[in-house]
Amino acid sequence: MRPDILNYFFKAITSLKGVGPKVAQNITRLVGRHVEPAQIARYVDLLFHLPMGYKDRRNRPKVEQLEAEQYATLKLQIGKHIVPPRHNKRIPYRINCYDDTGEITLSFFRARGDYLKTTLPEGELRYIGGKIEEYNGNLQINHPDFIATEDEMKTLPVFEPIYPMTAGLAPKTLRKTIAQLVQELPKLPEWLDKPLIDREKWPTFNASISGLHLADKPEIIDGNSPHRQRIAFDEIFANQLVLALTRKHVVAVNGNAINGTAKLVNQLVDLLPYTLTNAQQDSFAEIKTDMAAVQRMVRLLQGDVGSGKTVVALMAMLTAVEAGYQAAIMAPTEILARQHGEFMQPLCARMGIEVEILTGRNKGKNRAEILQRLASGQIDILIGTHALFQADIVFDKLGLAIIDEQHRFGVHQRLALQNKGLKTDLLVMTATPIPRTLVLTNYGDMSVSKLTEKPAGRKPIKTVAMPLEKLGDILLAAARAIDTGQRIYWICPLVEESEILPLSNVEDRFAMLNNQHPGKVGLVHGRMAATEKDEVMQKFQTGEISILVATTVVEVGVNVPEATIMIIEHAERFGLSQLHQLRGRVGRSDAQSSCILLYGAPLGATASERLKIMRQTEDGFLISEKDLELRGGGDLLGAQQSGDIKMRLADVENQADLIEIAHKQARLIVETDPRLEKDKHKNLRTLLYLFDRDQAIKLLSAG
Ligand code: ADP
Ligand code: MG
Repeated sequence: MRPDILNYFFKAITSLKGVGPKVAQNITRLVGRHVEPAQIARYVDLLFHLPMGYKDRRNRPKVEQLEAEQYATLKLQIGKHIVPPRHNKRIPYRINCYDDTGEITLSFFRARGDYLKTTLPEGELRYIGGKIEEYNGNLQINHPDFIATEDEMKTLPVFEPIYPMTAGLAPKTLRKTIAQLVQELPKLPEWLDKPLIDREKWPTFNASISGLHLADKPEIIDGNSPHRQRIAFDEIFANQLVLALTRKHVVAVNGNAINGTAKLVNQLVDLLPYTLTNAQQDSFAEIKTDMAAVQRMVRLLQGDVGSGKTVVALMAMLTAVEAGYQAAIMAPTEILARQHGEFMQPLCARMGIEVEILTGRNKGKNRAEILQRLASGQIDILIGTHALFQADIVFDKLGLAIIDEQHRFGVHQRLALQNKGLKTDLLVMTATPIPRTLVLTNYGDMSVSKLTEKPAGRKPIKTVAMPLEKLGDILLAAARAIDTGQRIYWICPLVEESEILPLSNVEDRFAMLNNQHPGKVGLVHGRMAATEKDEVMQKFQTGEISILVATTVVEVGVNVPEATIMIIEHAERFGLSQLHQLRGRVGRSDAQSSCILLYGAPLGATASERLKIMRQTEDGFLISEKDLELRGGGDLLGAQQSGDIKMRLADVENQADLIEIAHKQARLIVETDPRLEKDKHKNLRTLLYLFDRDQAIKLLSAG
């Protein structure tokens, strides 16, 4: 049960004065990402909505001291009004103002002249605040933030935090509501370690959160203030505790001691046309040791694109089969499940091992028959998509489950697997490297193996960036390339013509290329039926077609080693990790590969930086660090897409040190006190509840 002291935090915001249904709805839209749909935000959601900046009215410079971009409050004499010609909405209404040191213009777009004439009468004095801008060498304020007479000025707060906002909600309403909330905060017990707090000189939770909301100076809101650090640490620590508890109660429980004989693995190694890299051998050795232990294996295999994760997965599965168990691998897409099948089935057939594929496409009798062979133990290795963990799927003796996927198999899913009573060894493979901070945040309960080395003989991929205007040259080069038998991926960002974004259309591009090279071009995109996609992929694999026009459906995992050219249209639209993934589709053999990034000019600063990094390096581990830097840890879209743990208060990119501390401390605590029963740890339960980590609390009860 949640401690009573927290009841206040979980009240619905409608209990606050001045918050009716309409305001509640708007606030929920703004802060309620953590609430069930159709519910209203709670006090805690609003409390965690922190100011992103402030208005500092203490800064009262004279005009001659002004610098562009600063926020300033000026005492100005109002001068001439310059009324724009009627019907021309693009010219602003301007008012010249001055003090005894210089001039500055106020400008208003779509202004009501009569209103401005009464609030800013020529010849009078007014206090005016806003962001200073420079336009054609002249100072100006566009739409001042406030205009006040001498008397009004006395009632305005000198320092005022500003919040991220949403349409329909007045900043003043939000500010007042939060202030109300903060006034009555119940005093919470300290859950952090005293030496840590003393060392870092952090305020208490209450002092930090109310300090931020009621801040009266910039130092509290700016950057990494002790207030911000303290509550970020609380959030990070709650997350690390969950992971440590998961590790203790879900991962490190007794599983099966799977001792392979190495017979099948040795056979496989003999059958492979290449020798394993050292990294592959090392990773496999770690996996094998984990599998042999009585404790359950929960391991993350991190590898750069093209580093050869699939064969490591197969070796692990064969180890399970050697010991008399079944193994399963779950791929993120149908295409990838089929591809794994094509690689594994022929090899396993030669060893007398039964491999089957099960996806959403297997229906009716066929599906029933597969399930029956699975339950009776006839199938040794099952390859599938998400369908693999459905309720009616029963294994005879599943020893190892592998998830070949990026991010989406979060700690919640791992907890859910546990609830199913599955005690199989678990190996999660990521499609691209992830920075250490994100590994700790999302996989802090797992052990990690890394494939940092690519197979020998791979040449660096020649990467160039050029504007889309060069398309003509590229088309000629592509024609020459397919004449010499090369295969090309041609990536476009969208499936259908969009009115909003003038991006290339994959269907148009397909039609155009197919016109030039009849019968040599294929098309795959996300809206096609799986069977159709397979057919085209198959043709590309066998070389029946030479150009594959595609959306990002080929992003993850697709392996056609003969393809050597990757062309990406509107590369500026793609994220860094995505570009790296796409480029990783080529350079999969010892032939020279190239990647052409076609961009729509002009390039924004971030996009330009992304393309630069792509040209400079192929190191996925480095690229992932840069990606996190560029998109920022708090990037919502990225986090949502990947299923990462969502942090509300912490900034994983800039607070990496806090993550390391929290990780260590959480593990230490759970090691010595796995159910948080000691007096000095009891308050940690309060912390877990406060951050909605109720699911992990269940792990604390005996049994
Ligand atoms: P990823 O790690 O991106 O999933 P894959 O497992 O698809 O990579 O392997 C990429 C390609 O490299 C495949 O064609 C595979 O057969 C090949 N490969 C894997 N290991 C080696 C190796 N040790 N030497 C040479 N080629 C290898
Ligand atoms: Mg792969």
